Amino acid sequence: MAYEELKESVFEANLQLVRSGLVILTWGNASAVDRDAGVVAIKPSGVEYATLTSDDIVIVSLASGAIIEGDLCASSDTPTHLVLYREFEFMGAITHTHSTCATAWAQACREIPCLGTTHADFAAGAVPVTRLMRREEIEGDYEANTGKVVAECLRLPEHEGSAPPAALVAGHGPFTWGATAAEAVENALILEEIARMALHTLAVNPEIKPIGKVLHEKHWSRKHGPGSYYGQSKEPPASD
Ligand SMILES: [Zn+2]
Repeated sequence: MAYEELKESVFEANLQLVRSGLVILTWGNASAVDRDAGVVAIKPSGVEYATLTSDDIVIVSLASGAIIEGDLCASSDTPTHLVLYREFEFMGAITHTHSTCATAWAQACREIPCLGTTHADFAAGAVPVTRLMRREEIEGDYEANTGKVVAECLRLPEHEGSAPPAALVAGHGPFTWGATAAEAVENALILEEIARMALHTLAVNPEIKPIGKVLHEKHWSRKHGPGSYYGQSKEPPASD
């Protein structure tokens, strides 16, 4: 059977979202794209995780969304994933969850401000939140329009160029992405943790402001910038 590796990575990513507690019931999904083959692998709709196998992962066309391989219907959120893959070349995999803390920020329609270095290591700015969707967008092609409001949000001047690894859909929940399915899942985990930390931080001190630009840029660039030295391979070793 074709696309085995892609399906296996998406199967693992979906299971990992459940194992890590980010997804309960069927409240989430993960997908990955193979741009050379022009296909996306995604979780089937409404299937219990306990019985999910890699053979159940559905392969759809990146261009049309038509099912190419699989006996089950693709996740109902597939059009959201497809819009994002078409809009952003850098996305190799996407997750969507209703993880509690990230969803709390999404429901509050608030971006997650960078309140410390954990966040600064993760993102070059705040984790953005979309605008609320309009009535015609909700009543129309809702799932595709969800992708479009995320794309619109990422293209705002304040976010363009910083390529945030996640965004919150207002009144709904988080989407994360990465080069691989494993990276997209890791970003979902980190997002939930920084969302939780930010909630606790603001509970302790509601007046606290985002960390300064100097500290934020220091942490972001030591991990992601051209002269990055975080990790094992480069000098000097950084303290965590
Ligand atoms: Zn959702």
